[in-house]
Order: sequence, then C-alpha cells, then structure tokens
Amino acid sequence: MNYQQILETAAQEASLLAGSGTVASYIPELAKVPPERFGMALIALDGQVYATGDAGERFSIQSISKVFLLALAIRLVGEDLFERVGKEPSGNPFNSLVQLEYEHGIPRNPFINAGALVLTDVLLEHLPDAKSAVLDFARRLSGSPDLEYDAAVAASERATGFTNIALANFLKAHGNLRHPVEQVVDAYFHHCSLQMSCLELARAFLFLTNHGVLPNTGERLLSVSQTKRLSAILLTCGFYDEAGEFAFRVGLPGKSGVGGGIAAIMPGRWATAVWSPEINHYGNSVRGMKALELLTTWTGESIF
Ligand code: GLN
Repeated sequence: MNYQQILETAAQEASLLAGSGTVASYIPELAKVPPERFGMALIALDGQVYATGDAGERFSIQSISKVFLLALAIRLVGEDLFERVGKEPSGNPFNSLVQLEYEHGIPRNPFINAGALVLTDVLLEHLPDAKSAVLDFARRLSGSPDLEYDAAVAASERATGFTNIALANFLKAHGNLRHPVEQVVDAYFHHCSLQMSCLELARAFLFLTNHGVLPNTGERLLSVSQTKRLSAILLTCGFYDEAGEFAFRVGLPGKSGVGGGIAAIMPGRWATAVWSPEINHYGNSVRGMKALELLTTWTGESIF
C-alpha cells in the first residue's frame, strides 16, 4: 500500500475545502493559529512512518487529551469508573449543560467535557500530581520527552472557561467531584493545552492499535479487554454529536479536538493523526475529516 502517496493526495484534495470551517475562537489563544496549516501522519505497527505537510508542527491537542485521561483512569480504577461516567454517545454538544442536569450529574460519556472533568477528578484522587502524570504519560506514549503544556492556552481557557466551570460546579453539586472545582478545572485546562504534532499523536495512539501494548518496548498499558472498551468509546463518542457522521465517512475509532487535530486507529495495523485548524459547527476539523475519509476509502482499510 502506497501510504505516502495516499497521504499527499488526500492532503491536496482536502485543501480544496480551505475556508469552509472556522478556527476556534472561544478560547482566544487558539484563534491566533494560522488557518491554512495542514499536517497528516500515519505510523504502521511495523514501524514505518509516513507524513505530509505540517506533520511535525505542534498544536493544541485539546480534547484529544481526554483519551490519555481515560486510559490512565481505566488503569487506576478499572470498571468502577463507569459508576461515575456513562458510555453512551451524547448526541449533544461537547459542553452541554442541559444534558448533565437531566442526567443528575452523571456525564453521558468520558469524552464530553463533563466526563473529562470526572476523569480528572479520578486522577487527582489516585495520583500525587495529575498534571505531571498526564504529561509524563503523553511523553512516554509519543517517545517525545520534551512535550509541554502551553501555559498561554491554559490561561486563556481559564479566563474564558465559564461553561466548563459551570459544568464542574454542577458535577460538584451532584456529588460527582471529590476535589474543589478550582483544582479540577485547573488540571483539566492544562491537559487540554498539551502541544503535540501529528507524528507524536500517531505514535501515541499506536498502543491502542496494538491491543494495549506499547510496540517499541512490549510493555502492556491496558488489557486486551480494556483496549476494546476504550476503542469502542472512541468510535461511539469521539466526535460528539458528529460521531455517526465520522463512523459513516471514515469508519475508524478516533478523537478530535477543537485545535483542529484528529487521531484515529486502524486496529492491528496503524495509527494516524491529522491537523487542520478550521473546525465545523460540531468542533471537528473539516479538512481533517475529509483527509481521513479519503485515506480509508482509497486504502479500503477501516474497521468495517
Ligand atoms: N478545552 C476545550 C473545552 O473544554 C476542549 C473542547 C474540545 O476540544 N472539543 O472547551
């Protein structure tokens, strides 16, 4: 399979959609990112690396960090986690307050913001320093020891994150946060501000394609069953109220972020990541989704 050629042609075709989305501006710092950026990487389990465009440039991974939180939380508390957070698609925006209200403070799934706030609370309970633990985990998965949080992005979100703070207060009111709201949102905003490139993200997702084992060291991070469960949640909840559309067009478990990144896995074969900052109404990268749709169409590789 000529993945390199496929990535390059997919990038070209996706570029025709330039201008059809908008760079996220509700976190002011994200609005500074040049909209024309595009990068894509694919790393196969045999170690082959394919990349095009700005695949080596770091960007704000935002909600893709929720995958690292979920993997860590499952490692720490196992199935008990699902007493505090559900595993059904939300069919609602990622920051919906109304759903959290009528479901009495139990977030519908770990990938909406309320769910990730609960994951963060779990990490705070079981780890001495949740912020460092998530950073270390991402460094280990990606093989990049110099990954960092972007302090300006974290501060920008802290200054404008009223909805997330409201969600956290709601969770607290329902007894589903054990730590102070301020502590939970501070850690959450930092997790979202993590900067990674497409190459680093694709490498970081490889253990999920490898049934929970880090390919370079052979170290098992999740059991086969835990990996199945996490991947199922990626498929059904990774793109908020556009999860059906992503499964329909791309056919891979994956996760998006409002920074314009998407990481996705083809179990047993490869992991891929794409970045293009212009997002649609649902918070998913327009050109990123197109490029992934072309990748799975032209390779004939998807989970279906
Ligand atoms: N930090 C963002 C927020 O909490 C993450 C949202 C996203 O990437 N979908 O609003």
